[in-house]
Amino acid sequence: MSQDLWAALQQASSKPRPHPHPLSSFTNGISDVSNSDGETTNKYDLLCPRIGCGSVIIRQGVAKLKKRESIKMEPSDITPNPLLTPMPDSPEQSHWWLITPSPMEFENIGFSRPVESLSLSPSGKKLKLLACAECDLGPLGWSEEGGTEFWLACSRVGYRSSGA
Ligand SMILES: [Zn+2]
Repeated sequence: MSQDLWAALQQASSKPRPHPHPLSSFTNGISDVSNSDGETTNKYDLLCPRIGCGSVIIRQGVAKLKKRESIKMEPSDITPNPLLTPMPDSPEQSHWWLITPSPMEFENIGFSRPVESLSLSPSGKKLKLLACAECDLGPLGWSEEGGTEFWLACSRVGYRSSGA
């Protein structure tokens, strides 16, 4: 979607947009945005991080917190969107929200076409990149083609919190 079209749509909408708070705005980082009653899940709705969009991606309590090897979601010849936090280089670990077992768990999400990512995918399968369904901001996460696991980078989504 072009920026102009997006701006026009935004003006046409009278709906108040949720305000996304970045992970970096929380004093205690990841522990401020997670619940740990047994399994650690997302304490707040996960939103598109673009101010003025804030599309709801996942409702609170749906995603599980996982620490795993980082995956660089941008091809090396593409500069990441400045709104998105750069991912650390593999094999450094980073925090992810894991959503299973199907895209039905999402409120709103967009998928890219499968992309070759030879060095990136743990199994060597093609990856689909996840982006905001409303404004196309991404990649916010990834899944393997045909897979049942959907991974959102904790540092790339916004949090619907009134307290941060
Ligand atoms: Zn968006």
